[in-house]
Amino acid sequence: MKELEESLLPCPFCGGKPKIWNETDSFNRELYYIQCQGCGLSFNDSWGTYEAYNIEKEAEKWNTRYDYKIEKIQKIIERSKSCTE
Ligand SMILES: [Zn+2]
Repeated sequence: MKELEESLLPCPFCGGKPKIWNETDSFNRELYYIQCQGCGLSFNDSWGTYEAYNIEKEAEKWNTRYDYKIEKIQKIIERSKSCTE
C-alpha cells in the first residue's frame, strides 16, 4: 500500500501529496479512496462501484487525470507564450 501511495502523482491542483484512505463498508469489504493532503481534493465518483474496492484502479485513475489536466494547462501556457512573443 505504501509503495502504491509513493507511485501516485502530485495533486493536479495544488501539487500536494495524495494519501490513500480505506474504510470498511457494511459488508465488511475494504473501500479505498485517494485524497490530496494539501487541498483535500478527492476523486470518489467511483464510490459504490467495484472500482472503489480496487485500489490499483483508483490509483490509475488519479494518475490519468493528473496527466490529462497538466497536459491541458501546459498547452494553454504554450499558447499564451506564443501570443506575447
Ligand atoms: Zn491538492
